[in-house]
Amino acid sequence: MLTTKLVDNAYELALENFDAAADVLGLDNDTREMIKYPERVLTVTVPVRMDDGHIHRFEAYRVQHSQVRGPAKGGIRYHPQVTLDEVKALATWMTWKCAVVNIPFGGGKGGITCDPKHMSKGELERMTRRYTSAILPIIGPEQDIPAPDVYTNSQTMAWIMDTYSMTKGYPIPGVVTGKPICLGGSLGRNEATGRGVFYTTQCACEHLGMELKGSTVVVQGFGNAGSIAAQLLYEAGAKVIAVSDSAGCVYNRNGLNIPELMHMKALCGHVEGFPESEPISPAELLALECDILVPSALENMVNAENAGTLRAKIVAEAANGPLTPAADRILESKGTYVIPDILCNAGGVTVSYFEWVQDEQHLFWEAQDVYDRLERVMKTAFRDVLKIHLDRTIPMRTAANVLGIGRVAEAVQIRGIYP
Ligand code: NAD
Repeated sequence: MLTTKLVDNAYELALENFDAAADVLGLDNDTREMIKYPERVLTVTVPVRMDDGHIHRFEAYRVQHSQVRGPAKGGIRYHPQVTLDEVKALATWMTWKCAVVNIPFGGGKGGITCDPKHMSKGELERMTRRYTSAILPIIGPEQDIPAPDVYTNSQTMAWIMDTYSMTKGYPIPGVVTGKPICLGGSLGRNEATGRGVFYTTQCACEHLGMELKGSTVVVQGFGNAGSIAAQLLYEAGAKVIAVSDSAGCVYNRNGLNIPELMHMKALCGHVEGFPESEPISPAELLALECDILVPSALENMVNAENAGTLRAKIVAEAANGPLTPAADRILESKGTYVIPDILCNAGGVTVSYFEWVQDEQHLFWEAQDVYDRLERVMKTAFRDVLKIHLDRTIPMRTAANVLGIGRVAEAVQIRGIYP
């Protein structure tokens, strides 16, 4: 298994990015104190009876960074490297992200430090249900609405929805998004993040005068976000020359057949060994000459140590926090165009919002409605961020943060402080 070197503390990086944008906005100290830090942090113990009969104790978290603009919203991650600081960083980014796409949610995130690849379905179900009951007092359709993230999926959401509903005594589909369609999920939610990445990449190409058709693409991380982004770029005529997952990387300079690679990944669980491809190392993958690099795995993958090797013209951040601030500075000096995470991957939370609206109204939309609305939201957000980037001559990431943080600051200033 490829290891991820978490060289920096993601939460400290999130705070550093906040300060940069708050300085541009000229935010006063009182407002900074009100919106910078998580509003609520919950750490819970999750004891689970494992298949061999012993009880294993997992440590788990739910962080609500902000409810200023609406209920907290954010995914739940199952991964061996989950830490409280990582969850706090991810919750913080969710607040600014929801504000960038202007949906009425704040930011939240959850996580369990576990190794889901070495757990049975029964163990995962028992862990998910016990975790749900532990965080139950602070979640709900009007309070905090979880969704899938790394190594969680629609089945995980179904277990959470069921546990929550059984405890309350009636069905409450709006407590989570990313559910199966038969439980009140939205058409288009599964591919929403990748689709949003695709729309913002289209906008970036248009802005830079680059042709998407025929461009070369490298995708790091071939899960939900990365594989769908790869598929849509492939369908638009781009050449996806390399792809990786946690077990290995595959490369073909003439382009990989993405639908076949997705089929193989679904069957075998990995991309390594794909016909008509050669294996390369993770470092070689990042350093490939290409038009568009789509980091779609975990945070801090591009950092001070390897940013200098990148040769992509555009970096489309499907993952949350894949570039450290030091990497940002290096790429900025090389003239690389970065579509920042809180803009690029906001398609997931946008369709989660659509799902929540449909659940609340008990009225469900056609897939095309979802795609059209998503396209409008993503392209409007891209235009808004681009305008700030050009008007103020600041990096795209700072521009996105200025937009998101500015909207949250405005809301908190109007609400005032209680009591
Ligand atoms: P996923 O579990 O579906 O996929 C993660 C992928 O990353 C897997 O293919 C895994 O093998 C790969 N991976 C893990 N470690 C790796 C490594 N060291 N090198 C290369 N590949 C590695 O998760 P996902 O939902 O696609 O999430 C991926 C990223 O996108 C995360 O940062 C997540 O926070 C972000 N994101 C996801 C959504 C969503 O709706 N799913 C929305 C917004 C942001």
